[in-house]
Amino acid sequence: MTKILLVEDNEMNWDMLSRRLERRGFEVVLASDGREGILAARSEIPDLILMDLSLPEIDGWEATRLLKSTPDTAEIPILVLTAHAMMSDRERALHAGCDGFAAKPVEFDRLLSKINNLLNRKVRFYDHDDCQTVAR
Ligand code: MN
Repeated sequence: MTKILLVEDNEMNWDMLSRRLERRGFEVVLASDGREGILAARSEIPDLILMDLSLPEIDGWEATRLLKSTPDTAEIPILVLTAHAMMSDRERALHAGCDGFAAKPVEFDRLLSKINNLLNRKVRFYDHDDCQTVAR
């Protein structure tokens, strides 16, 4: 079973997302702050991480940076969930090493296709409307 780690501090969001993902056959592990997210990523080694940015303890940018700079977790794709419309927030997330974005409020079908693309391709991808140009 494909395991997704959802790092999200908003109870309504994680409740909705985890139920919908489980209904699609994913195993979902929850973490409600960045520190918990890092620990869960290390212990669970999920197939993919959905990462909120505004999180208590350690924010999503820093958690992404730490996970991507640690060999054990560096290869796990991270899809950032962001209500932050500003490109600078996304650029910070790219710089931290995330593999893609999904806008909040989440459109579930779009999120699902991004998740599946990342899981199947095992490469970084960016939607045109998410990020116009990516130079890494
Ligand atoms: Mn949040």
